[in-house]
Amino acid sequence: MTFRVLTAEFSHETNTFSRRRTGAQAFRDRFVLFGDEAIAERREANTELAGFLDAGQVHGWHIDHVLSAAAGPSGIVKRSAFEWLCDPIIAAVERGRFDGILLALHGAMVLDFSEDGEGEILRRIRAALRRETPIAITLDPHANVSPQMCSLADIIVSFRTYPHIDMRETGRRAGAILHRTMGGEIRPYTTRVSRPMLEETNGGRTDVGPMIARLAAAQQYEGQGDVFAVSINAGFASTDIADVGPTVLVTGQGDRDQHIAFAETVAADIWEKRHEVLNDYLTVEAAAAVAAGFDPGHGPLVIADYADNPGAGAYGDSTALLGALLGAGIRNACFGPMVDGEAVQALHGVQVGTHIRLALGGKTDAAFGGGPLLLDGELVSLSDGHYVGDGPILGGLSRSYGRSAVLRVDGIEILIVTIAKQILDLQQFKAFGIEPERKQVIALKSMHHFRAAFEPIAGQVVVCDSGALCTLHYERLPYRNVPRPIFPLDQDAV
Ligand SMILES: [Zn+2]
Repeated sequence: MTFRVLTAEFSHETNTFSRRRTGAQAFRDRFVLFGDEAIAERREANTELAGFLDAGQVHGWHIDHVLSAAAGPSGIVKRSAFEWLCDPIIAAVERGRFDGILLALHGAMVLDFSEDGEGEILRRIRAALRRETPIAITLDPHANVSPQMCSLADIIVSFRTYPHIDMRETGRRAGAILHRTMGGEIRPYTTRVSRPMLEETNGGRTDVGPMIARLAAAQQYEGQGDVFAVSINAGFASTDIADVGPTVLVTGQGDRDQHIAFAETVAADIWEKRHEVLNDYLTVEAAAAVAAGFDPGHGPLVIADYADNPGAGAYGDSTALLGALLGAGIRNACFGPMVDGEAVQALHGVQVGTHIRLALGGKTDAAFGGGPLLLDGELVSLSDGHYVGDGPILGGLSRSYGRSAVLRVDGIEILIVTIAKQILDLQQFKAFGIEPERKQVIALKSMHHFRAAFEPIAGQVVVCDSGALCTLHYERLPYRNVPRPIFPLDQDAV
C-alpha cells in the first residue's frame, strides 16, 4: 500500500521581548520555499525535510511537500505572516486525502493572537482533516511545548543534540514512527511533564553536562516495546507565555502512567540540577582581559557573546563587547555580526579603502548591551551578504545577511550586516574575506551553536554576557505571563 503523506516545515522561535515584530519579510529574509523549490534547496542538507524524504523513499510514500518557511528568531509573529504561510498547508490538507501529516516545527512560535503558534497550526489541521489521520511533528529542543500541542499531535520527536546537528536524523525518526502508525501497527499518543523553570539551566547543551545521561536514559527507555520517542526539551526562556520552560515528552502507547513516571524522573533531574551552571559567564571587561593576554599558538581565542545572540532573538547590535575589546587594545581580531542596516547603507555609499567615521550599533535599545560607538575605521569590503555554509549545521545551505560591509578599526575586522544572524559556521566570516583561523581573537554572537564549527579551530573558548536582550539576568526582563513562582525569577520561593 502506498501512503500519501503531507509534509511541511514552518518554524519560528519567538522572543516576545523583542521590539521587532515578525512579518512576512522576516520569513523571506531566511527562507520561504514552496513545493519542489524547497526540496531542491533542502533535500541534500541536514534538514528535517531531508529526513522526511528519506523516510518516504524507504517506505515508498507519495509525498506532497507544501512549503518550507522559517524566519530568524525575533519578536511576536504578525497574523498576516502566519496566515500567509499556514493557509497553504490547510488548503492542501482540505484538497488531499492523506494517510499522514508530517511537519517540522520549531515549537516556540508566539502569534499576536495566540501564545501557542504550533498549537494553532495543529488545531487548524485537525479541523480540516475529514477523517482520523495521524500527525507527526519534529521540534527543536528549544521548544516550549503546550499541552494542546501534545493532544493534537500523535507523535512528537525533538532533536537530541545542541549544537543541533541531527535535524535530518530526527526527520527520519519521526517518519519511521508515522509509517508504523499509518500501517495500523501502533497507536501512539504523547504525554508531557514539565517543571516551573524558564529553561533547562544549560539551555539543553548536549556536548557536556547532565543532558548526556538524560538522553542515554531516554534512549534506553525507547528500547521498550511501547515507547517510540522520548523528547527532552530545554524550553526557550525569552518567551513570556504560560507554557514556557523545559518539558519531557514520551510518544508511546499502552500504559500512560508508566510513561509519565519515566518522564518525571528526567524532569526531576532537570529540576535538581538547576544550580549546576556549566558556562562561566564573563563580563565583557573580563573577556577583553582574557583576550589581551592570549597566546594564539594553539588557535584563536573565541569569545561568544551569549546575550546578543540573534539566534535567540537578540538584536545583534550590542556594542558592549566590541567597546571592551577596542578599549583593551586588542589587535588581529574579528567581530561579528554587528547588525546595523543604517551603517551598512552609509558604507555602501563610499569607496572600499576609504577611512570613515561612523556611529555603529546600539541603535535598537541601548539599555540592552550599550549604545552606539563612534568609530574611525577603514572600509575593507562591501558585499550583498550571501554565503553558503560548510559546517555541520549549515553545510550546503545558502543564507544572506543582506547588504554587508567589513570595517577595520584598530586591527579588529568588524562584519556589519543588515539581517540578524547567529554565527555558527566559518563561512559566515570567510565568505566576506575574514580568516578566523588566522586571528588572535574571534568575537562572535552565539550561545552555543558556534561550538560545532569553531571549537575545532579554537585554542580556547570563553562565553560572556554583554547585557543584551538574551542576558541571563532575567530579572531585567518584564515577565508578566509566565506562571509564578518560576525558577530562576523566584530563586527562593520555589
Ligand atoms: Zn534550538
